[in-house]
Order: sequence, then structure tokens, then C-alpha cells
Amino acid sequence: MPVVVNTPSRAKPPRHWIDLSVEEREQAVKDLGLPAFRARQISAHVFERWEVDPTQWTDLPKAARQDIADAWFPVLLTEVSRQSCDNGTTVKTLWRLHGGALVESVLMYYPATRHSAARTTLCLSSQAGCGMACPFCATGQGGIQRNMSTAEIVSQVLAANRLIAAGEVPGASGRVHNVVFMGMGEPMANYRSVLTAIRTLTADGPAGVGMSARALTVSTVGLVPRIKALTEEGIPVTLAISLHAPDDELRDELIPVNRRWKVDELLDAAWHYAEKTKRRVSIEYALMKDINDQADRAAVLARQIRRRGDWTWAHVNLIPLNPTPGSRWTASRSEDQDAFVETLERWKIPVTVRDTRGSEIDGACGQLAAVGRSAGLGQ
Ligand code: SF4
Repeated sequence: MPVVVNTPSRAKPPRHWIDLSVEEREQAVKDLGLPAFRARQISAHVFERWEVDPTQWTDLPKAARQDIADAWFPVLLTEVSRQSCDNGTTVKTLWRLHGGALVESVLMYYPATRHSAARTTLCLSSQAGCGMACPFCATGQGGIQRNMSTAEIVSQVLAANRLIAAGEVPGASGRVHNVVFMGMGEPMANYRSVLTAIRTLTADGPAGVGMSARALTVSTVGLVPRIKALTEEGIPVTLAISLHAPDDELRDELIPVNRRWKVDELLDAAWHYAEKTKRRVSIEYALMKDINDQADRAAVLARQIRRRGDWTWAHVNLIPLNPTPGSRWTASRSEDQDAFVETLERWKIPVTVRDTRGSEIDGACGQLAAVGRSAGLGQ
């Protein structure tokens, strides 16, 4: 298993075409002496065909191609390594950002079942490192390097689309169906770039990628003011709360930001989000042996959800940690996991146990981090 050490760097990435608004793109081509309609052509290459090199775009004047490349297409993500497992259907890519910081994204293909169509999900990063300092998470131990730009965030999706189109993910076709902001970083701590990335991913082509907001999930450990701000944006993305404990005593220890915004405040904000957007909130709960996996904690969690109204506003997603022998933070016993699930079901709380894809390549939940070999949840 490779050990990846992040290079501390706060170097801001250069501005990229993807960072610009539609109006700024038109101004950008005018500044290069081209008519405004060229902006739509360039955006079609970027967002509809997922291309990266303007010098190859033959529908643009030859003399302008290098100028466009130099002005607006700096290299943002450099692939350092790519690993796959699950017969090639889980692919983790390690990227080097401008300035040297490392981040990862994980692409997962799920074949069709009797209950669901085939789909691909990309788990992407929004920060290099993370400043939230959750003690069970290696990403958190390494601290924050820097926020990622909108273009760096969106580029992870475009790169994944290229990978699928190149036939590198067996069975997958088309493009990424779902994006989850659950890789490195706390998305709400990089609110402006993440929000602009969401707007770009959901904008119709050629201005954006043309994804449905419902296909995007933004995860947070509980930055309550940002949840409230997102509620007001009116974009129906799915909100995921990394709760991991239903009581302040334990959550203060597991999630330091809980000392600032308590469980009640967080769940109130999540409930308001569900009420306003009509989108069910996902409550993420990593089961940690003998720490938060007791059945009576499941009952506390159930009561917390039920007392905020109709139980359908939230769905609990249990995340089995990967077994780490000897670590304080390790996988629950299967009987404790079963008892936790049964308790929630008794309270009629919708609950699923997350499929742990990618554990062989450190790409599963609890393993995404470019610092050491990671035990972090990355949300
Ligand atoms: S669990 Fe998430 S929020 Fe906490 S330190 Fe790790 S990446 Fe940051």
C-alpha cells in the first residue's frame, strides 16, 4: 500500500476557464480578439466533450488556440497514480494540485440490479487536507493545506467522465451519474468554491455539465451557518450530515466542531433543510467498535430524528469502518452492527449499511486521505 505524504502548500491555483462565469468567459474571448460566440464553442469542448487541450480544437482559429490555452487552461490536476479494485469497477486517482498538494477522488461503478439502474458515483475532494481535526481521521491529523478552486473540484468530474468514455471502468458507460462531496476536506469550509462548483455541474450545457442537482450530495460535519446558507440557495442537492454520535458528550470528542455547534442545533438545521428542499437528509454514522455502536445510542439517534417530525425527513447511512487491528477506531462486531440496525428499524427509521467499496486500495470510507495511510472518513 503506498504511503503518500502531502506537501504542505498554500499556493493558490491559477484561474481557469471553469472558474469563470458565462459573462466572464465572453469577456475573456473578446480580450483575446475573438467574437463572443467562441466562448460557447470553448465551453462545449470543456463541459460537453470533457476535453482539456485547446490546441486540438480545430473549430477554433488556429492562431488563437495557443493563446486560449495559455490564458485559460493551466494544468490543474496532474495524475500521480491510479489504482483499481472490485474487478476494475472502483478506481481511485491520486492528483497533484498546483503547488504540490495531493488529493484523491474515487469512481465507483454499480451494475444494474433488480431494484436500480446501473450508475457511476464519483467521490471527490473539496480541500487539500482538512482543518476539522476529527481524531479518528488521518486527513484531519494532517491539517488543512488549502481550499480547492471551483475548477479543481469540477475537473475531477470531467476527468472521471473521460475515464468512463475511454472504457477504463468495465461496464460503465455514458458519464458520472452521481457526485458525492465526501472525499478529502469539509465542503462547507470551502463554501464559495463548492457552491460555484455545484452551479457549474448543474448548469445546462454548454455553460455547465448539465447534471441534476438531485445527483449531487454535499456532506458536512456540521457547520451550521453554512447549512443554513445552503438551505437558502434553493438548489435541491442532497445534504449529508456526518453525525457519528447522537449525544454531545461523545460527539464533542469525535467531532471537535461539535463544541461550537451542538447536536440539537445541527439536527434542527438539517431538518429545516429537508423541510425547505423536500430532499431527505442523509445522516452518516460510522460504526466504531465500543465507541458509538451501542444499541442504546441507536435509540437516542432514533428519538432525535423522530422528535423533529415525520421520520421520513432523514435516512441513516451506517458506515462500517474498515477493520484496523489494535486501533482505537476499528470496525464494530457484526452482532453490534445488527443490533444497531434493528433498533433503528424498530423505530421505523430508514437505514442502510453502506457498501464498503474500495477497501483494498484505501479508497473506502475511512481511508481517503493523502496524508500517511489514513484512517480518516473524509466525511
Ligand atoms: S472526518 Fe471529514 S471533517 Fe473530520 S477531519 Fe476527516 S475529512 Fe475532516
